[in-house]
Amino acid sequence: MGSKEPIIGIDLGTTNSCAAIVDGEKDGVPQVKLIPYKGGDYTVPSIFAIDDKGNELIGYEAKRQWQLNPKNTIYGAKRLVGRSFRSDIVETMRKVVQYNVRPSEDNKEVVLDVGKKSLSLQDVSARILNKIRDVASNHLRIPVNRAVVTVPAYFSDRQRQSVKDAGKLIDLEVVRIINEPTAAALAYGVGKDLNKTVIIYDLGGGTFDVSVIEIRKQVFEVKSTGGDIFLGGIDFDNAMIHHILKEFRAKTGIDLSADPVAMQRIKDLAERTKIDLSSREEAPFNIPFITMTAQGQPLNIEMRFTRKLLEQLTLELVDRTLKIVARVLVDSGLSTKDIDEVMLVGGQTRMPIVQDRLTKFFGKPPSKGVHPDEAVAIGAALYAHSLQDDSNLKLQLLDVIPMGIGLEKAGGEMHVVFPRNSAIPNAKQLLGTTSADNQTELIMRIFQGDHTAVADNEQLGEFTFAGIRQAPSGQVQVEITFDVNIEGILTMYARDPATGKELKTTVRVTQT
Ligand code: AMP
Repeated sequence: MGSKEPIIGIDLGTTNSCAAIVDGEKDGVPQVKLIPYKGGDYTVPSIFAIDDKGNELIGYEAKRQWQLNPKNTIYGAKRLVGRSFRSDIVETMRKVVQYNVRPSEDNKEVVLDVGKKSLSLQDVSARILNKIRDVASNHLRIPVNRAVVTVPAYFSDRQRQSVKDAGKLIDLEVVRIINEPTAAALAYGVGKDLNKTVIIYDLGGGTFDVSVIEIRKQVFEVKSTGGDIFLGGIDFDNAMIHHILKEFRAKTGIDLSADPVAMQRIKDLAERTKIDLSSREEAPFNIPFITMTAQGQPLNIEMRFTRKLLEQLTLELVDRTLKIVARVLVDSGLSTKDIDEVMLVGGQTRMPIVQDRLTKFFGKPPSKGVHPDEAVAIGAALYAHSLQDDSNLKLQLLDVIPMGIGLEKAGGEMHVVFPRNSAIPNAKQLLGTTSADNQTELIMRIFQGDHTAVADNEQLGEFTFAGIRQAPSGQVQVEITFDVNIEGILTMYARDPATGKELKTTVRVTQT
């Protein structure tokens, strides 16, 4: 592949995606261009659908027909990427989405039924990535085959791997995965010669991330990170929807939750009303002919929402973000007064109460230094540019893993090899030994998460190291290396330290 071939930056968001590229340098400062989509928008909805004729629709085309075809319209899929069917998150998602989420034949992976097709989550992510790539290729008039893609800092190893795999499905080389808050810090700091400690508070459509980052000129060092993969704008919408359904039921005795078209109309207006309430104190909430009585009388929803009510309904969500901020700050070893700037990323940070609460927490208002919707794609493009052979931009990114990585001990306890917030890239060795005579294989189950019982963490895989020298129990040692690369992805290998011989490693992802 030619070194001149561009690497673009892609923010693959839960609700919206965005791409950017560096278009030359001016006075040594890279010039970033957001890639416009049809109509001049810079973001593409991360929505995939199949219409009744079997056509695949992505982005605005998919969003436009969402209300009429909610069962075959996939949104928020990013939250499910890299999850096993039996995880709590999949269970929760199944209750709130209109599309069919079911287990694969082996009961492990998640399968989505859309139109006449059954797709994996990688398939859906791949289609969205492909759309962004096509938009970029058309705009730039050159083929785009390489990208830096951002993921939430709180994504596990498996979720990161899934995004890389989605790229492979469409021959898009995901040159590097970087964390969304880290990308936002790049958008803020590149070319500015800064010496600052910032906190990035990133509340997007589906996920919440927070990172404390020290910027020293071109070095971006993440001190600590945290988040919640299940906390974002969608949850604010759901809190409203829940309230609307309850009120409607109280008034009419009718439960609308089983009516997909009604639910879609409510969802749509709930989000719009939520956004309206960021700039006004009150908004009507009216939907005509939402359903009919048993006698065939049409019924309407006629309500009013105030900003206060919205704040009450979502208080618990904002509280959760602040608890995570407090923990991440403790993990960084810093206090609020050590933070020079609080940066807001993600559409949901436009909600005034979010800004007010952060102002109280830090004793100063958040900075307006980055564009909340564009910073992540801009940062990804800057990083992409720094990886290009002909670039003068030299960046050093020092990141951390968001959750501990370790192995299962006897009794199902987690033996932590890398605690959360360990710097990456990072490698550690463990010395194991055989526990039976002539044992030729060693099997290890590896987990990611911060719980003491492995059952509460996510299994990354079962690693088998084969070809151990035959000897009495306890006589052969096996040196196992845990290697977490700069993207937060784990590889493992083992060798016999006495002979130096590498053992054969196979990985099986057995989901719990
Ligand atoms: P993102 O993933 O960053 O594109 O964030 C999208 C989320 O931000 C969606 O849940 C939107 O409803 C929400 N959002 C966008 N604009 C606003 C606004 N002005 N006030 C509140 N939420 C907003």
